[in-house]
Amino acid sequence: MTAYKRILLKLSGESLMGDQEYGIDQQRLKEYAEQIKEIAEMGVQIGIVIGGGNIFRGLSGAANGFDRVKGDQMGMLATVINSLALNSALSAIGVKSKVLTAIRMEPVGEFYSKDKAIETLEKGEVAIFSAGTGNPYFTTDTGSSLRGIEIEADVMLKGTRVDGIYTADPEKDPSAKRFDKISFDDIYHRGLKVMDLTATTMCKENNLPIVVFNMDIKGNLKKVISGEDIGTLVHR
Ligand code: UDP
Repeated sequence: MTAYKRILLKLSGESLMGDQEYGIDQQRLKEYAEQIKEIAEMGVQIGIVIGGGNIFRGLSGAANGFDRVKGDQMGMLATVINSLALNSALSAIGVKSKVLTAIRMEPVGEFYSKDKAIETLEKGEVAIFSAGTGNPYFTTDTGSSLRGIEIEADVMLKGTRVDGIYTADPEKDPSAKRFDKISFDDIYHRGLKVMDLTATTMCKENNLPIVVFNMDIKGNLKKVISGEDIGTLVHR
C-alpha cells in the first residue's frame, strides 16, 4: 500500500547541480532517477516538474540587462534541458518516461495536454512536464502547482535539500525548528517562503496538499510514498 496513487514531484534545477556551481551533476541526476524508479515500481503514477535555476533564471537575466520576457523564455528552455537529462537518466535504468512541453517544440518533446499527461500516467510511464507554464513571469513552482492540479494529483512532493519547512532558514539560523505539519494560512501569516505566493495560493485554492522533504537523502522519496512521517505536510 502506498500513501498516494498519483503524485506531482517538483525538483529544483539548483539541486541538480550537486556540488557544482552550474549545470547538471551526473551523479545527482542518477540518484534522483534511482529514487524515482523505486516508487515507479510501487505502482505510483508520477508527474515531474524540474526547475531551470542551475542553468538560467529570468530574473537574474533581467538584472544583467536581458529583456525580462526573453530571459524567462531562456529559463523555460533551461527546464527543457533538465527534463531531457532526467528523461535520458530514467531511460538508462529502464524507466519509461515522456517529456511534455508547455511550448510547442516537437521533436524535442510532445506538446502538453491534460489528456496526453493522463494517458502517459495510466500507461505506467513517468510524465515530465517541461517549460514551466509556458508563460513569462511565472516560476516552475507555479508550473508544478498547475500541472499537479490538472492531473488531479493526490499531493505535490517538493524535493529540496532541507528536510522540511522551518520557523527560519535552518542554513542560517541554527535555532530554527521544523514543522511536521503546517496550514496554508500559517504559511501566509508567518511569511514563510516555501514557494512563491502564486504557487502556494493555487495549491490552497484547489486543495492540493504539499509535502516538503529532503530529496538529497537516498530512499526519502520512497519513505514519503510509503506514508512515513518525514518532511513537512502543508494542508488546508
Ligand atoms: N520560467 C518562466 N515561466 C514558467 C516557469 C519558469 O518564465 O512558467 C522561467 C523563469 O525565468 C525562471 C526560470 O524559468 O527563473 C527557471 O525556473 P525556476 O527559477 O522556477 O527554477 P528553479 O528555481 O526551480 O530551479
